[in-house]
Parts: sequence; C-alpha cells; structure tokens
Amino acid sequence: MKEKYLIPVYKRVGPVFVRGKGSWLWDEKGEKYLDLFPGWGVGILGHCHPDIARAISAQAARLIHLPNNLRNSLQDRLGREIVDSSFPAKVFFSNSGTEAIEGAIKFSRLYGSKSGRYEIITMKNSFHGRTMGGLSATGQKKYKNPFKPIVPGFKEAAFGDFADLKKKVTRKTVAVLLEPIQGEGGVNVAEKEYLRDLRKFCTAHDILLMADEVQTGMGRTAKMFCYQHYGIKPDVMLLAKGLGAGVPIGALVVKKSIADLLQPGHHASTFGGSPLVCAAAIEVFKIIKKERLLARAEKMGVYLINSLKKLQRRFPVIKEIRGKGLMVGVELHEPAEPFFRAALARKLIVNATHVNVLRIMPALTVSPAEIDKGVKILEGVIGNNDK
Ligand SMILES: *Cc1c(COP(=O)(O)O)cnc(C)c1O
Repeated sequence: MKEKYLIPVYKRVGPVFVRGKGSWLWDEKGEKYLDLFPGWGVGILGHCHPDIARAISAQAARLIHLPNNLRNSLQDRLGREIVDSSFPAKVFFSNSGTEAIEGAIKFSRLYGSKSGRYEIITMKNSFHGRTMGGLSATGQKKYKNPFKPIVPGFKEAAFGDFADLKKKVTRKTVAVLLEPIQGEGGVNVAEKEYLRDLRKFCTAHDILLMADEVQTGMGRTAKMFCYQHYGIKPDVMLLAKGLGAGVPIGALVVKKSIADLLQPGHHASTFGGSPLVCAAAIEVFKIIKKERLLARAEKMGVYLINSLKKLQRRFPVIKEIRGKGLMVGVELHEPAEPFFRAALARKLIVNATHVNVLRIMPALTVSPAEIDKGVKILEGVIGNNDK
C-alpha cells in the first residue's frame, strides 16, 4: 500500500489496530491478535495496564508539561526510583532512546575534553538509534551509509571479543558503549567474562563504560537492568523503551561522582521529563514491585525458552534459541521475515530482525497460557510451512 500523507519510512503490515489490553491487540473489525512483541520492547506491562492508564489520566488533569527551568517534583521522584534500583547516579530525562544516547555521547566528549580524548568504541551489529549521533554509534553499515558523512570519533569492535576491543583502544579513547544483550543485532548475549574484563580494563584506563539498556532495561531480562546479571556496574546507563510503558521518555544515568560535569547550558530538552511522562514511569516502577514482575519474567522466560527448545528438537530450521528473561531470539537457518508474516496471518505478533532471527519480547505480565498459544501458532507456521 502506498502512503498518501505519510513519509514512507515504515514498512507497515497487517490490519489497522485500534485497541489493546495486556498481551492482546484488536483490529478495527474486532479481530483479536496475540502480541508477544508489544510496542517493539516498549510494552513492558503489555497494552494499557489499568494502573498506567489511571496514572496518566490523573496526571493529565493535574499538570501535563512544565518547562525545565521550573522545579518538577516528579522528575526528582523518578530519578530516585532509577537510582535506588541501579547505582549512585544522577539522571537527565530525554524523550527517546536515541536522545539518551546523544546525551551519553555529549557527556563522554565533555569527560574526555581535559585529556584530549573523544573516541568512543562501539560494537559491530549494535543499534543505538537514528539521530546522527546514535546512527554514528550504531555498528551496522545499512543504517549509516545513506547518510554519510557520519559523526567522527566512533570505532567498531567485535561484540564479545575483548582482544579485539583492546586493539581498537588508542590514546584518544574515552568511552566504550555497548548493549549487554544486542537487541536489533539478533539477541546476542554478552558473556560474563567479557563484561567483567571490560569493566576492569575501563577502570584501569579511565575509560567510561556506557551501557545501552534502552531495550534490556526495566525488567526485560528478569533483572531491573541487564548489567545486574554480570556483577558489574556501568559508569553511564541509557534507558528508554520500557521506562514509560508507552509514553515517550528516555534517561541518561551518570555515575554520581562525575555527573555534575554537565552544567547549565550544556544540555537540555523542551519536552524531556514532563510531569505526564514521569507520572507514567513512576507508576511502572510501582507496578514492577507490586506485581513482582522480575520474578515473573524469570519464570516465564524459562518457560518460553523451554517451550521453544521443544520446537527446536522437532524442526531443524531452528538453529538456536537464546536470551535472558523475556528477551528471546530464535535464530533460523532461513530469513525470518516470511515466518513473521505467516505468524501475523495467524494472528500472532512477533518480530524478525538481523535477517535470520525471530525476536520475542512479551510483556512481563504474560501468562503461561498466552505463551502456550504463541508457541502453538509458531509450531503451525513452522510445521505447515505456510510462509
Ligand atoms: C530502540 C533502541 C534505541 C533507540 O531508541 P529510540 O527511542 O527509537 O530512539 C537505542 N538503543 C537500543 C539498544 C534500542 O533497542
């Protein structure tokens, strides 16, 4: 279908969706779809969690926006939630993941300016967003090449290869930026040893370790933040996607001892951290605690992976199942896109990424029955070969 009013940057598929609840979406004809990839990772609580809907509508009636030169107590409260569940830090609120990355790039340039360092090492197959900075940090040529010249000062290392990383370090290196689990790049899980070596190396050389937790954060991997699986702490952490359960909010989280390097005039956002989006994100933290969603994500993640492994034993087209918590990749021996389309035709929403990988990231509230149903549909898609 050709877009009439919209710039055609999105490949849109399926019917027109008009309503959602939990792991379900309804189209305009009233047909129901199982959504095991709600909001491209945003839907950490599924669609329209009632407490989120209530928090947003109450805040909308009270105060929607404030400019950032006036005090905003909701930013304080949300900052505290983030810091209490991560590490001693200070927070800046953006509107998206890529803007959180921009903040991290700017922070690292500032951090390195005294010693003349500015280079950031990022990873092959990484994804850090679509603004020029985020794009330049992204280790995938297909995203960058049409927009040359990209921002200078980025170098790529192979993900998981500590020796390669050390080779890319120069006297200009100020930071390493990586996703603890690469999402867009095909659900590639960093090894414990690698992140621990990296942490030690960065500390020894005064290099900032910056964790892009835009996709892995907020309980997605069954810890509040994915780095917590590794027994390390980053110096800088980036959040977005699940943080607001659907409202646009991102965060730049910087270790407390260095956070005040950013001073008035260095960075700002007109919309960033409005009372409306902060109220939603504060509610997300509440719900995760109240409904014990980290423990639930752990259990449901194991259940999902085990169910998929049963399929793998029967269907040789499945090469590997990998992931943590409710961030799961199914690597196929064939392109994943036709499987994604066939699943959609059977009213199941998943995602195809990095050519051969089906990505499944259900809401943390997903039920065993919903996982069973999703796996059954996938079984039909793969078994009947109706792609
Ligand atoms: C989605 C994503 C981004 C970009 O976030 P936007 O909100 O789309 O700008 C950055 N990093 C990672 C790891 C992501 O998954």
